[in-house]
Amino acid sequence: MAYINLTKKFRPKKFSEIINQDHICQALMNSIAKEHISYAYLFSGNRGCGKTTMARVFAKTLNCKNRIINEPCNICENCIDIEKSHSLDVLEIDGASNNGVDEMRNLKNNVMLSNINSKYKIYIIDEAQQITSYAFNVLLKTLEEPPKCVVFILVTTEQYKIPITILSRCQRYRFKSISNSSIKDFLEKITKKEHLEITDEALNIIVSLSNGSIRDSLILLEQISNMKDIKITSEHIKELIGIVPNNIILVMIKSLLQKDIKMIFKIVNKIYKLGYNIIQFTKDLRDFLRKIMIYSINPRIIEIFPEEQEILKNLKIKISINTYIHINTILSKAINNMYQYDKPIVILEIYLLKATETYYNAKEFINKLDELIEKIQTSDNEYNNQFAQKHFDDTKLKHEWKMIINELGNKHPLIAMSLKNALIKITSDNFIQLTVFNQFDYDNIVDLKEEIHYLLKKKVNLNIELNIIKSDITNNYLKEIPKHIEEIATDFNSKIELPK
Ligand SMILES: [Zn+2]
Repeated sequence: MAYINLTKKFRPKKFSEIINQDHICQALMNSIAKEHISYAYLFSGNRGCGKTTMARVFAKTLNCKNRIINEPCNICENCIDIEKSHSLDVLEIDGASNNGVDEMRNLKNNVMLSNINSKYKIYIIDEAQQITSYAFNVLLKTLEEPPKCVVFILVTTEQYKIPITILSRCQRYRFKSISNSSIKDFLEKITKKEHLEITDEALNIIVSLSNGSIRDSLILLEQISNMKDIKITSEHIKELIGIVPNNIILVMIKSLLQKDIKMIFKIVNKIYKLGYNIIQFTKDLRDFLRKIMIYSINPRIIEIFPEEQEILKNLKIKISINTYIHINTILSKAINNMYQYDKPIVILEIYLLKATETYYNAKEFINKLDELIEKIQTSDNEYNNQFAQKHFDDTKLKHEWKMIINELGNKHPLIAMSLKNALIKITSDNFIQLTVFNQFDYDNIVDLKEEIHYLLKKKVNLNIELNIIKSDITNNYLKEIPKHIEEIATDFNSKIELPK
């Protein structure tokens, strides 16, 4: 079976064939009709929405020898040369690989050469955002004093990267993203023309995989067009592209939300063994999460197909915005990294683990921590005040205690030091509590408990009990911090609604 290059065959050759950009087609056709041609244009928009195609059609119309109502004839020598990229007067430059000063100088010199066989000399600069700022300066010089009949068409997906000095010299056109339904209509026409038998569900899959790019949708259709003799079903496409079925993706999403690491690894292992495309799976996972999220906010603002609608309607999963941002940011990073690494599965595993980590909203978390610190400080002060009152008011005890330490210090200087570090207070009428703050002091003092008790009884002249406790209010609270953090984390986790 002959290979059909659908992208080439169905690339629009005139304005009327361009999908979804009627506003721009009309404006350009009007300017051609009035011969009001600017020397610089900027076409911006998402990838695959027809910017470069529009630039080519515009170039053809400008240089066509037999224009038909502001459209190119597509049969004259100029039209054919431009279509085949052979025209000496229409140069397509890839901004990504010709982004330096030298390339721009060459361009500047080239601009000075006169047209050969056409009315206009046209430069289509693709991926214009990739041009370096020095190179832009050279280009700017050319744009400041453009030779007659030179037209620049800058094409970009990222207009904000183009210097304002360049932007201000361009007539700007913003291309609309192409809706799924427009892509589907377009593909339906092509499948009819090519006699491709394909189910509606299969077409829907191609559309959703194209992410708003007509070009991508054509490339996908091209891939399956060699299965011409059979009716193409969604299963064929899933198998060909390596798409993991929705039910597996759903189990993965549930496992991620429940932090079920065992299940996550089980699924990854399964899809790997079955030979599915790991990058595609990660993308599908991310896209499905997005659909769940948007659907839960407003089902009407998301473009989904009937079969997905059914799944989302019956879905018992709810995801908080924070969790959604957290998981999808991680999946996007994973996808980026997978392209640079020979084992995407390893990257997927690492990032999925990362996605199960407890996620804190930084601001709320810091507020909670502030509250906690305040609580600790308050309790600490309360404790000290309470203690100070009882202890220091009892001047007699304080005085006698000093004497005891001195007395003991002669025989046991180390223990005396530990006693100096300790705090003494009367907890009830006949109870004295000695509080020490570390294990070393505690061990020292406990060894001599009987002697200390005896001396105390003698000095205060009361039949008191002595209680030695090891306690450090500050340390205790510090020790409790991880527990509090855990509590805060649990509190946050409880905000993530899990599948019922
Ligand atoms: Zn022509």
